[in-house]
Amino acid sequence: MSGISIDRKKPRAALQQLLLDGNIEPVLELAGILHGHYCQGLALGVKAVEAAFTRLGITDNTGMEEIMAVSEGNSCFVDGIQFAAGCTLGNNALVYKDLGRTAAVFYRRATTTAIRVVVKSFEFNSGSESEDNEGNALFEKAVKRREKLTNEESSRMKEIWIKRSFATIAMPFETLFTITEIKTPDLPFAPIMDSQECSVCREKVMESRVVLRSGKPVCFTCAGEEYRMVIGKGIATAKALCQ
Ligand SMILES: [Zn+2]
Ligand SMILES: [Zn+2]
Repeated sequence: MSGISIDRKKPRAALQQLLLDGNIEPVLELAGILHGHYCQGLALGVKAVEAAFTRLGITDNTGMEEIMAVSEGNSCFVDGIQFAAGCTLGNNALVYKDLGRTAAVFYRRATTTAIRVVVKSFEFNSGSESEDNEGNALFEKAVKRREKLTNEESSRMKEIWIKRSFATIAMPFETLFTITEIKTPDLPFAPIMDSQECSVCREKVMESRVVLRSGKPVCFTCAGEEYRMVIGKGIATAKALCQ
């Protein structure tokens, strides 16, 4: 473990300092707490933040939407971004574009230049071709074909993925990414909205997510309205099938 200490008034400061110092290994190690495993996507997300924040001179992120990340996909990469950048779905500093790309834009509001980081490839190896082939075969089996791995195979896959992930963050930015400067996106702050009580289920619901039925507020699920949800394949629109 990295053993960093947390200043409660600036809970991200210690993590940010590691990024600024280029001491990225403990950042990836800690990101595993969020993501659950080490993989190249997570490693690339963490490394993309290091690349962008270094260029933008970002030394702190208070999670108040001043520092923004726009992810162009919802793969493992975005967990690396959320953890290392502190731009998350919950603090509204993460914008998700359903484009299926392993790319992200980072910027500070009130500035004109943003940094776009695009992953060049997922073929970065760990230094051993036979191990990489073995890792790829296990990935095909476990993730693509959803077949059960033996305990030994599972442990082996983790070993290879850990090795690849930590080898990836040691590579230079230019090997991993195409990095460009773009104009800062003009995205609004998250609105602060009142809640209303659904007249059917009696739960509190954001006022923009109710419809009126006989003059009374009803939530989307009780009303059978269409709503959107983020699922593995991206943003989907569904009738209220599940509550
Ligand atoms: Zn992953
Ligand atoms: Zn309801």
